Amino acid sequence: MPRKDLTKLLFKRRLVWAVLLVLAAAAAIAVYGTAFATRAYLDQASSRGQTTLRLAVAVLRGQMSRYQSLPALIADHDDIKELLANPADEGLRTRANVYLKEINGLLASSDIYVIMPGGETIAASNYDGPASFVGENFNYRPYYQDAIKGEQGRFFALGTTSLKRGYYFSAPVTVGGRISGVVVFKVDIDAIEASWKGGDYEILVSDPEGIIFMTGRPEWLYAGLLPLTADRLARTETSRRYANATLRELPVTRSSFGDTHQLMTIASPGAAREYLVLDEPMPEAGWTVSVLLDTGSAHAQALTSVAAALLLLGLATLAGAIFLQRRARLAERMEMQASARAELEHRVEERTADLALVNRQLETEVTERRATEKQLRQTQSDLIQAGKLAALGQMSAALSHEFNQPLTAVKTYADNAAILIERNRIEEAKDNVSRISSLADRMASISRHLRNFARKPNEKLGAVALAGVVKDTLEIVAWRLKAAKATVAVDLGPTPPIVRGGSIRLQQVLVNLISNAADAIEGLADRSIELSARRKGGKIAITVRDHGPGIPAAIAERIFDPFFTTKGVGKGLGLGLSISYNIIKDFGGDLAVSNHPDGGAEFTITLDAARVPVREAAE
Ligand code: ADP
Repeated sequence: MPRKDLTKLLFKRRLVWAVLLVLAAAAAIAVYGTAFATRAYLDQASSRGQTTLRLAVAVLRGQMSRYQSLPALIADHDDIKELLANPADEGLRTRANVYLKEINGLLASSDIYVIMPGGETIAASNYDGPASFVGENFNYRPYYQDAIKGEQGRFFALGTTSLKRGYYFSAPVTVGGRISGVVVFKVDIDAIEASWKGGDYEILVSDPEGIIFMTGRPEWLYAGLLPLTADRLARTETSRRYANATLRELPVTRSSFGDTHQLMTIASPGAAREYLVLDEPMPEAGWTVSVLLDTGSAHAQALTSVAAALLLLGLATLAGAIFLQRRARLAERMEMQASARAELEHRVEERTADLALVNRQLETEVTERRATEKQLRQTQSDLIQAGKLAALGQMSAALSHEFNQPLTAVKTYADNAAILIERNRIEEAKDNVSRISSLADRMASISRHLRNFARKPNEKLGAVALAGVVKDTLEIVAWRLKAAKATVAVDLGPTPPIVRGGSIRLQQVLVNLISNAADAIEGLADRSIELSARRKGGKIAITVRDHGPGIPAAIAERIFDPFFTTKGVGKGLGLGLSISYNIIKDFGGDLAVSNHPDGGAEFTITLDAARVPVREAAE
């Protein structure tokens, strides 16, 4: 698998893991976070509820302790004692009624009244009110039953006559060591209850049977938090605690949150609400004070917190995803760069390998070329050798021919001369001898030419006046010109040219050229030859032109080769132009041939111009 695909696969796997992790975290937050946050907010609510509860209990206790000892105090009053000793005395009754009303007003209590043994009320602070207790029998009330037994009584109940809820304190009236009656002190609780209204909590006070008798919520009044069993109902009936009020059960479901928080769900028509319940018993009164806090806000806050946490998780996931994606992109880019680099390196390696191959091929080629060159040189030297041998052969043939002819002639002339002398024909013999002499001259001439060809003359180069050389040349070639019936027109220009060279050899060259020209024009109509010289910059150009047939293009390149001749056997050696060419090259000049536009060959010698004319004859 390519590395890039592998990286992608790994990235995808990581992505899947990351998604699973985030989902797990979200689930954990949703489940444990909600529980945790709910617990935290319930803890907060609980501590708030505890404060409220403590305050409510303190207020209730304060209220009770304020009035607790008052019945005993009133019971000790003489007017009360006297009345109970003489219950039929109207005057005493009136005095007691007035007294009780007065004290009731002073103490801001609900009612104060005096009960005779047997339960009948004989004096009351509300004696003149519409719902006077006077004449009422309260023997069923526990506070009466306790007090008549000589104990302090206390009881909470709904007034059967007043139909007002109140807390009753009672004390026995002792006259002469005998219990002669009971004083009852009723405290109104409406003010305390009113202070509980409002706020986000509910305060309940329930009696030992679980019936709520104090609450800020009127609909919960006289409702039972505990199931209303027959026992409970019977006990309540006996004391007529709640007079004729209708008792009912509150639809309560109890539950708990963890080990610490007690919850209670109260169903009401249309909806059910859950409350956090905090209880504190008040054993001295037989009550249970409860504070109910609606858990709705705690749940809402917990949900908000969880939502915020999930949002944070979402943001973190998003940031993580962006980070991962960037990292992946970076990795991909780096991967691409690496692969591009690898590709480049691969190409470089390939190219290097190609180059190395080409290099090796070149080396092989060079070696082959060297071998070929070596072979070529060998072949060339072989050829030169062969050429030399061929030239030697040619020259030998030419020489033997050149020399054999005159030698044969010399032999013939000599033999003839001997016979002629024998016959005394001296004149003819003389003629033969002179012919032998001229033949010897010819052979000497050939020999001289060959010598020149073979040996480099030791003539020194210097300034040579062309005029003198031309003059000598014409003298030498005079016989040849005469034989060919040719004429030479000399034109050396306005200033006699002086060239750098050797006079003897230059003369030899000119002799060759003029002789060749004479050969070319022999027998033709125009037998004129022109010898001219012109200065061109630092050079002097000497031309020898004839009016012959010119040089055919086919042989133009070869006429300077040694032994090249078109002349018949015995006439040309083919050495003249070759020797001339070498002489001019020795002078540092040039010898070239061209055909004149008007016909005839034109040989041009180019030599360096010199200043001082020095005639030298050092040959
Ligand atoms: P040779 O004169 O002995 O043949 P050269 O080397 O002097 O040897 O000349 C070589 C050849 O060049 C001649 O055979 C001739 O064919 C040709 N040649 C030389 N000069 C002339 C000329 N002026 N006109 C025509 N052909 C010429």
